[in-house]
Amino acid sequence: MILLDRVSVMYPNKTVALSGVSLHINPKEFVTIVGSSGAGKSTLIRLLIKEEVPTSGKIIVGSIDYDTIDKANIPHLRRRIGVVFQDFKLLPNLTVYENVAFALEVSGVKSKEIKRAVPKILQLVGLSEKMHSYPSELSGGEKQRTAIARALVRNPKILIADEPTGNLDPKNSWDIIELLLKINRFGTTVLLTTHNKEIVDALKKRVITINRGRIVKDEKVGKYTL
Ligand code: ADP
Repeated sequence: MILLDRVSVMYPNKTVALSGVSLHINPKEFVTIVGSSGAGKSTLIRLLIKEEVPTSGKIIVGSIDYDTIDKANIPHLRRRIGVVFQDFKLLPNLTVYENVAFALEVSGVKSKEIKRAVPKILQLVGLSEKMHSYPSELSGGEKQRTAIARALVRNPKILIADEPTGNLDPKNSWDIIELLLKINRFGTTVLLTTHNKEIVDALKKRVITINRGRIVKDEKVGKYTL
């Protein structure tokens, strides 16, 4: 569960990025967040991964109250929430396998467990055959699959995909969306931001529209209406 109660963010330069945002997302939901550039989407994502703190308001994710979480628990929180970005953020000198394994290594997972988990997740995202390739040898879609595998391998409850298709052609974009739907069917909450109207309208899922830091629309089966 993700709960935001009257959350506002004002940056030090006095820009109000979010204003009184209240939001409730149930476990296993698939939610798309749309909004023009500057609407506040990235700020919302940064709040959820605790890279940003609200100026006012309350955030609770699962059983974690963001007001009372101590520093030592932030890595734990970040394990519960996987994030993928438009520009993939892969490590160029590591193979697909190593990029995914690295996410577990930094969490202190034992090598035996890593050897079990990584091939399994690469199979899920359809990348078993590319596991020894470097990012420079991959298509955009394959890079994004690697990023998704890396986010998923730690078994997060929530997957945030911030413009995951922004750098992809239509075919690869749909493949990535289908992968996100599959991950969602397996029980992970998915939060997607996108500017792709065709995708949003075809999904027929909940759509939250943000404009100038406020939620202006929240529809169970929403459309892209910017
Ligand atoms: P989006 O992701 O929807 O494009 P953002 O959350 O990035 O929107 O930005 C919301 C508003 O906050 C914009 O007006 C933006 O210029 C401003 N903003 C974002 N980050 C900062 C920051 N670090 N400092 C000051 N203003 C910021």
